[in-house]
Amino acid sequence: MCGIMAYTGNRNASSVVVNGLKKLEYRGYDSWGIALLGNSKIEVMKKVGKIGDFSGELKECSTAIAQTRWATHGNVSEINAHPHLSCDKTIAVVHNGIIENYNELKAILEEKHRFISQTDTEVIPHLIEEELKSNDFEEAVRRSLARLEGTFAVAVLNKDSSRIICARKGSPLVIGLGDDGLFAASDVTAFLEHTKKAIF
Ligand code: GLU
Repeated sequence: MCGIMAYTGNRNASSVVVNGLKKLEYRGYDSWGIALLGNSKIEVMKKVGKIGDFSGELKECSTAIAQTRWATHGNVSEINAHPHLSCDKTIAVVHNGIIENYNELKAILEEKHRFISQTDTEVIPHLIEEELKSNDFEEAVRRSLARLEGTFAVAVLNKDSSRIICARKGSPLVIGLGDDGLFAASDVTAFLEHTKKAIF
């Protein structure tokens, strides 16, 4: 099942998303990771194992996405853990679900893009990177997701616009409207301590 958590706002986004992931642990997972918008670049940290064991410090930031992964394509490893990045590292994606046509998309993208994981998910940041050559961020995400077959909930972080775009098809994703920021998560429990205003 896995869990997604994203936040942008006035709180420290890295602790908001890590605490959110802890509330999604019941969904089951084998690894986890976070991407945050640091000093004009996307910083990523990935770990195999339980998030409860993590005691490290994360950089303060206002925008972050995170995911607990339940591996369906590719073994359990830090490389296969989400988020996955575009070649130029300006796009980071967390995903819940299965991209059924990823082999076909990967074969096309591999002519210009370097893949480092065995996941189906990694086609998404590369598709968006390709579409960004002729579209703005929102349109690039829209066009990329239209090419996917299967189920997904995604949160896409873009360094250049400092925005997160979320979308879902067949997998859960709820938006939370807080007084000091916006949330997206696989389940409201991830952000209920911050806001009870949700859009399903
Ligand atoms: N299919 C993706 C993967 O294997 C996402 C799995 C999930 O929903 O956690 O990385």
